[in-house]
Amino acid sequence: MIPVLIVLNAGSSSLKFQVFDMVDDAEPQLVWKGLYEGLGGSAHFVVKDNDGAALDEMTWSSGDRIGHEEALMHLVSWLRSHQEGRKLAAIGHRVVHGGQSFSAPVLVDDSVVEALEALVPLAPLHQPHNLEPIRIVRRRLPGLPQIACFDTAFHQTQSDIASLFALPREMRDLGVRRYGFHGLSYEYIASTLRDYDPRLADGKVIVAHLGNGASLCALKGGVSVATTMGFSALDGLPMGTRCGAIDAGVVFFMLREMKLSPEEAERMLYTKSGLLGVSGISNDMRVLRSKAASDQDARRAINLFVYRITREIGSLVAALGGIDGLVFTAGIGENDVATRAEVISGLSWAGFSLHEAANSAGGPQITFGTGPTAWVIPTNEELVIARQTGRVLDATRERLAS
Ligand code: AMP
Repeated sequence: MIPVLIVLNAGSSSLKFQVFDMVDDAEPQLVWKGLYEGLGGSAHFVVKDNDGAALDEMTWSSGDRIGHEEALMHLVSWLRSHQEGRKLAAIGHRVVHGGQSFSAPVLVDDSVVEALEALVPLAPLHQPHNLEPIRIVRRRLPGLPQIACFDTAFHQTQSDIASLFALPREMRDLGVRRYGFHGLSYEYIASTLRDYDPRLADGKVIVAHLGNGASLCALKGGVSVATTMGFSALDGLPMGTRCGAIDAGVVFFMLREMKLSPEEAERMLYTKSGLLGVSGISNDMRVLRSKAASDQDARRAINLFVYRITREIGSLVAALGGIDGLVFTAGIGENDVATRAEVISGLSWAGFSLHEAANSAGGPQITFGTGPTAWVIPTNEELVIARQTGRVLDATRERLAS
């Protein structure tokens, strides 16, 4: 029997999954991937093979009341009827916040669930959804190992100074500090740099994870030394619907002068700001690009996005003391030729020279000449979760055997 892992990434009304074969010490092999969306309403399920060909699909009406629990049990029974020669060995979960305690993936037990629940106030819009499937599996499939893999853990290598806010000491004691996010993506990129250029793996690299969520990470020798995200996933770059870094005084203005409740202010900053808020049109870069020539607000949203990326890269170059390479990844970074061109044009001071044809072709290398290099590298957060899950399972087995 081949052991298989399910990798889960749960959102408020969605459940993304990938299933990997785990053969001895080999790299996890993707077998199936899919998605439940519209959970709690009219739910839809689709599963594809590793070439992206659809294998199965199903739609439920809202009267069927398909939530996360029903979706998970449907997935497990779909697997049972398709997993010939395979046996479910564990589930690996994406968990956005590991706080100060979790600097590595961890086998979930009661005390871990309790510690992760205590972190909900630090990531109120993500952490509860990440924890829900963990609780469901503990209830419905007791005994199945679950491993929590954290978006924050990769940044635990940052110095005390890089993670400090200039706030009174008691705030830090409460856990108010820079954590950083998108760590699973950055770990994947760091693991792959040597395949592109050994000088990147050993050097000073900035990774631009530009998706609906967006952040930058400064890597020195493949290790995180600084990032644009901070205490919550709101900080740093403007994103699809999140504001990125703003003056904290704006929040007081929202509460005191606009009389918004904390929940209304939070909703505005998380879901109505960023590309959507500035353009008033969409959080989707493809839509904004298609309207940019005729719509000033679409153009303004893109210009702000590019300006902030370029400015923050300057800050991270200073934190690194130089730059050898820049990597673009995630939905916009991997696909939007114009965003890459505009960012690199804003970085000519650092010696970057865009290779236009290579950029249009999607890379991997999109610069020429003797300056620092820029690259397009597709991210793979699910593979990192599968790797981490496999490692924790092996370590647990060894511990039990000794
Ligand atoms: P992600 O969160 O990584 O899935 O990225 C979502 C973002 O990537 C959205 O803003 C999309 O508009 C953007 N995106 C995806 N494909 C393309 C594309 N072909 N060109 C430009 N932007 C894209």
